[in-house]
Amino acid sequence: MARPLTIVNGTILGAPGATTVAVRDGRITAVGGRELAGAGGETVDARGGLVMPGFDDAHLHLVGGARSMSRAQLYPLATVEAILDAVRAHAAATPDAPWVLGRGWLYAPFPGAMPTATQLDAAVPDRPAWMDCYDGHTGWGNSAAMRVAGIDRETPDPPNGRIVRDADGNPTGAFKEDAQLLVERHIPRPSEDEDRASVQGALAAMHALGLTAAQDAWLEPAELASWERLHAAGELDLRFRGALIMEPGQTLTEWRDRLDGYGAQAFPLRGGARLDAGILKGFVDGVIEARTASMLAPYEGDTSAGLPAWEPDELNAFVAEADRRGWQIELHAIGDRGVRLALDAFEHAARVNGPWPGDPHGTGAAPGTHARRHRVEHIETIDPADIGRFASLGVIASMQPYHGDPSPNQIDVWAGNIGPERAGRAWAWRSIREAGGTLAFGSDWPVVPFDPFIALNNAVNRQTRDGLPAGGWLPGERLTIEHALEAYTAGSAFAAFAEHRRGRITPGMDADLVVLDRDLLAAGASAIIGTGVRLTVLDGRIVHRSEG
Ligand SMILES: [Zn+2]
Repeated sequence: MARPLTIVNGTILGAPGATTVAVRDGRITAVGGRELAGAGGETVDARGGLVMPGFDDAHLHLVGGARSMSRAQLYPLATVEAILDAVRAHAAATPDAPWVLGRGWLYAPFPGAMPTATQLDAAVPDRPAWMDCYDGHTGWGNSAAMRVAGIDRETPDPPNGRIVRDADGNPTGAFKEDAQLLVERHIPRPSEDEDRASVQGALAAMHALGLTAAQDAWLEPAELASWERLHAAGELDLRFRGALIMEPGQTLTEWRDRLDGYGAQAFPLRGGARLDAGILKGFVDGVIEARTASMLAPYEGDTSAGLPAWEPDELNAFVAEADRRGWQIELHAIGDRGVRLALDAFEHAARVNGPWPGDPHGTGAAPGTHARRHRVEHIETIDPADIGRFASLGVIASMQPYHGDPSPNQIDVWAGNIGPERAGRAWAWRSIREAGGTLAFGSDWPVVPFDPFIALNNAVNRQTRDGLPAGGWLPGERLTIEHALEAYTAGSAFAAFAEHRRGRITPGMDADLVVLDRDLLAAGASAIIGTGVRLTVLDGRIVHRSEG
């Protein structure tokens, strides 16, 4: 156990007037003034900086993100030339790798919004190359990759996927949704040891930005087992919660059998201090950039409104079956119809199953506060009629502020696909909050970086890092700094049934703390970008310290 720790001379988030936080045996023992100093152990001078709960990223993909750190970084390059230069440089730096891998390209640099194998051949002519789009919904391969995967004009589109083709039916090198798997299954998988090393690198980088907790939005059962081994080895320096996958295309009987197996593996972990499970993840739709998100009306200049991945009746039945067994469920929904279908499914489950009994997630919280709390992930645009349903149904709005970065490169394809009226309801976190809904914030790393400060900047300013547009994009949706910080800490903890352990600085809570290099509350919204993290504490132990 770490020795006692006292943080002095801080501004304590949520405790006006307090300057000192005392920590012992992994818990916050006292919050107050100077009288708490000198209790023994280590004393850290916050030098006026904000002391806040550790950030809790409510939605990311940790192993995928950790692996991506060693790939060509294509986000957010603005031209095809810059992208190909980065691929070329990465290929030259990894001459022995059988595949050249990269991630993070944006749609905007490509005319027609889809890249081609011919373009990629110019950078990598001799080896298979595969580049993930920043949103993970489109993959881009070169000719060698398509050869290795045996893909030609005869290859049919898989269910839930599309091979982009030219007028003659020849694949052009872009693969949407599940069509990506046709190529990806030929890429050699890293070993568990390699993954473990990349995860350790990722955790150190996360601590340096003040993250002490993260919630993974897509785990196969075998992955949960490898997290259990990491935890058992004492190497999991993070509060980690993983969602097990829920997919369409099974019978309800198969789904019940799957839930039996999941329950045996995950339920003993529910309410765990470091590793936690008990949540399922399903996809209701795709993404707006690729016109695969489900919309109530067709896309601009199109007859298609996207397609939900589930028949609504099937989604309702699967959600209700899991809800009946005490599972929390998170549904990816990006388009306005996708969001409605997700809310409908949760409403249906509450109607057929009635109130949740007892305390299924072991929060020990007061009666009435441990009711079901399902989640909708992303919510990029929403019909006005659905904004108030987050509050009325007790559903959490889990949103990733930096997805709404209003740089032209990022937002033009998105907004162009749905037109100005629907784009005017983009990332409506303030409307949802003011209607009584609970927000949980995250990054969706590796879709975008896990840096919580670039996310806070967008949540509060609705501006790019360079301060554009002046006054903010859709400024009516700007949050206060306090509310944005709350969504990234207490809101995420609530979304994980962990509000009794973390997310606020009060005695008895887990000592997961961050000291910033400034008092953000006093410095104001323009000071968010550039904020540094002086100290990160997990379980009462210092896991990151910077002299800056
Ligand atoms: Zn995600």
